[in-house]
Amino acid sequence: MELNNNQLLKAQNYIDGQWRDGAGKLAVTDPATGALLADIADGTAADAEQAVAAAHAAFPAWSGKTAAERAAILKRWYQLIANNREDLARLLTMEQGKPLAEALGEIDYGASYIEWYAEECRRAYGQTIPTHNPNMRLHTIRQPVGVVTCITPWNFPNAMITRKAAPALAAGCTVVIKPAAETPLSALALCALAQEAGLPAGTLNVVVSSDSAAVGKVLTQDPRVAKFTFTGSTQVGKLLMSQCAGTVKKMSMELGGNAPFIVFDDADIDVAVTACMATKMRNAGQTCVSTNRIYVHESVHDVFVEKLRAQMAALVPGHGLEQGTTFGPLIFRRAVDRVHGLVEEAVANGARLLLGGDFLPNGENYYAPTLLVDVHDDMRIAREEIFGPLAVVLKFRDEADVIRRANDTAYGLAAYVMSENIHRANRVVEALEYGMVACNAGVFSTTVAPFGGIKESGIGREGGVEGMAEFYETKYCCYGV
Ligand code: NAD
Repeated sequence: MELNNNQLLKAQNYIDGQWRDGAGKLAVTDPATGALLADIADGTAADAEQAVAAAHAAFPAWSGKTAAERAAILKRWYQLIANNREDLARLLTMEQGKPLAEALGEIDYGASYIEWYAEECRRAYGQTIPTHNPNMRLHTIRQPVGVVTCITPWNFPNAMITRKAAPALAAGCTVVIKPAAETPLSALALCALAQEAGLPAGTLNVVVSSDSAAVGKVLTQDPRVAKFTFTGSTQVGKLLMSQCAGTVKKMSMELGGNAPFIVFDDADIDVAVTACMATKMRNAGQTCVSTNRIYVHESVHDVFVEKLRAQMAALVPGHGLEQGTTFGPLIFRRAVDRVHGLVEEAVANGARLLLGGDFLPNGENYYAPTLLVDVHDDMRIAREEIFGPLAVVLKFRDEADVIRRANDTAYGLAAYVMSENIHRANRVVEALEYGMVACNAGVFSTTVAPFGGIKESGIGREGGVEGMAEFYETKYCCYGV
């Protein structure tokens, strides 16, 4: 793999400021071709323990720095990422598959968290509380929670790391990350730049491992760890929450979703189709806020579906580094087979296939953009998180009924409402039981706003002031006078 800056290509774990071998090797492959990209160190539970020990040892000095001192280092890290954005994006596309334009977008988005939290940490204000007793003075101060451990997924190998590490480091915490084994190169490249930026040894550590269960146990159970933050599936999140219970860790969970996308009869159909394409087809449908169920009012159903079909058919599958590619592979074959199984089952139960529904000749991890109509709420394709390029359309007639159907899921991450009627838009946005609702927009995630879910989609928020609060404890200080 050719990069302008080959210093970004790391094949070892980053522990206590050093690049270290693991017990064995782990193969990283290009999901578009299956080609081997790198054989990298395969970390173990013992490596994770060393990383936690390093983070624990580094905590007093790092948390003891002033906010301005931490901010200066984080800004250097941000600048180095910006200087290397093309290389980082190429690396991301190679290991994850998304088209290069999307990868560049992720690098900028990911870096923006570092820049923003470098500023925000200067504002960790406490309070002076009007006292209940003239002989006492009451204050609060905010202090970093301590060692933070993170487990991140493969769908955003850069941004899911910075969204956690940037506020944690800015707050004065030290960090250990286990990235997904499919996409570790982006995580290690971020460490190389953090090292160059002058982040002290032990402050940020990355352990890559094919044995996520063993490393995960250390990160969730070691008593030196104060907080655990996870992005991934609800199923694994539940397991990790139970593992955290033994030492009562603070936890943040960014889990799966089953996003409804509701198109009312008063929607601007072109705006709705553009928004739908952005939420449904970005990263080949492998985003947690990806639209899962498209509810379309029966009076605009046919026109919406035809416009959506035309735009989906115009996607250009290919290798993410090839010019013109707008649609990449899924992460691995297992995901392709799962998605195909959902389509076959839906069709067998009466759904109508208007586009796709099959594998693509580009490579074994490619699945065609697929459009299904006449889907019903009780089909598995409408109840489970799809995580693939399937647009699934259901009809509705009545506002109250579609709100009830949209809320009828254990998930509560993102929802979308398309309507030009401000009264309806307000009403529906407020009635949807989701952590985030976008109205007449398909892409909404930003550094400055809180991202996260309710119900079984998670606990806590990333981004904005809420994302920073996750890494502080508020200490109440009472002085007798
Ligand atoms: P996953 O839960 O299988 O894996 C996520 C991470 O957990 C990976 O690093 C994996 O190695 C690790 N892991 C798996 N089993 C583990 C175990 N027993 N112990 C410790 N670690 C373990 O999810 P995935 O397939 O990588 O990602 C897709 C899921 O992530 C989807 O459900 C998606 O919605 C969710 N996601 C959520 C958000 C969000 O912000 N809410 C963002 C991106 C992805």
